[in-house]
Amino acid sequence: MSKISQKGHIAVLAFPFGCHAKPVLNLVCKLAKAASNTRFSFFNTSKSNDLLFLESESEIPDNIKPYYVSDGVPIGHVLTGNPLEAVDLFLKAAPENFKTEIENAVAETSERITCLLTDGFLVFGCEMAENLGVPWIPVWIPLPCTLSAHIYTDLIRHFCANDGVDSQDKTLEVIPGLSTMRISDLPEEVLPGKSLFSHTLSRIGQVLPQSTAVVMNFYRELNPTLLENDLKSKFPKLLNVGFLTLSLPPLPLLPSKSDGTGCLSWLDQQRASLVAYISFGTVGAPSRNELVALAEALEEIGAPYLWSLRDNFKDLLPYGFVERTNNHGKVVPWAPQTQVLGHSSIGVFVTHCGCNSVYESVANGVPMICRPLFGDHRMTARMVEEVWGVGVKVEGGVLTKSGVINSFERILENEEGKKMREKARTLKEIVGEAAHEPSGSALKEFKTLLDIISLS
Ligand code: UDP
Repeated sequence: MSKISQKGHIAVLAFPFGCHAKPVLNLVCKLAKAASNTRFSFFNTSKSNDLLFLESESEIPDNIKPYYVSDGVPIGHVLTGNPLEAVDLFLKAAPENFKTEIENAVAETSERITCLLTDGFLVFGCEMAENLGVPWIPVWIPLPCTLSAHIYTDLIRHFCANDGVDSQDKTLEVIPGLSTMRISDLPEEVLPGKSLFSHTLSRIGQVLPQSTAVVMNFYRELNPTLLENDLKSKFPKLLNVGFLTLSLPPLPLLPSKSDGTGCLSWLDQQRASLVAYISFGTVGAPSRNELVALAEALEEIGAPYLWSLRDNFKDLLPYGFVERTNNHGKVVPWAPQTQVLGHSSIGVFVTHCGCNSVYESVANGVPMICRPLFGDHRMTARMVEEVWGVGVKVEGGVLTKSGVINSFERILENEEGKKMREKARTLKEIVGEAAHEPSGSALKEFKTLLDIISLS
């Protein structure tokens, strides 16, 4: 980036785990295109930055520059593979790792920071912005109901300790906006825990209300009661700028990785609305027994399927499964998911309920079979099944052969499935309207965000 900015220098602080950093970078790309005289310095670990910036190089406006912060893993330390370990090491190194690089960026550009935009999990942004004397704008990536769970953590803990002890299935009816949620749906971090991550998230309710504005990776029309009647009153501004991993008009977005695995051309040969797309995201996976059960179910019902399964899990599939089903199925290590879900052949998405995956399914009108894995997935699955009515959670919460077959029948065959498909189409239309010019709500809220940043 050669030109000197005329209008501000925004420091963007990413949370480099799961799929948090990509939607934040997408938002920053939109902002940077709209505010071409503003400088955006994007602070993230090298592992996460390399993935994001290499993948999207040609699409990144030149007023965004990546900076590399320490991941906090001591030299020579071998990670156990438990994702929480890496998160805790990173949080232990923060915010010093960010501060060092911000100072470098300021020295390099001779431009002081004028605004701090961070992932909503990075609660230290509040104090950091205060010390810099600039606005703080946290971006909340998961569903709004999970923000409520963090805002009301104290109330929830009190409820669980006093009223909810007997039943994990008890609804959280006394917690604003969470009346359909069960205690068992809550992210592990909402209940008392020992990890640094858990401690960090327990501060969300205290610090996010002190921000200048909270940006939501969401359309307010999809949960107006919660957003308008409750969450909105908690923050100076709550800006629902739309789903940030999707290229919905009119905002330009980064493309998915190219279709190196030939998914789209394979889908072109399938019949409409029948293919099951399967992916459990980029972090976790169900157990081996569950993967086997899912494979056996697919084989028994002969369902056409496209399965994005990382190579290290492929060996866990039943012997000969891929070969036996290759006339109606395809297993790939990576799929261009946003395009796959938009393909007319897709009839159902078997998902872990990561928020981005669910948003991509909602935006494309695809009903879901949910196998939530951890964290906010169970709350998201509850939204999908009970609030939006666009999917089913697998029986017992784990994949069994009979449970998968039953879920397929419920979605693809009977009257119940017809209703779900109709509701999925309606949600797609709602999202389409909210995303479109000139009256789309997401566009208006994006412009408000742009004003805040430009005036800072
Ligand atoms: N994804 C993809 N291709 C794949 C698997 C995943 O493009 O084969 C993308 C998907 O579109 C989504 C993200 O990876 O944007 C997964 O994010 P999500 O929040 O659903 O789950 P996480 O990976 O954070 O558990």
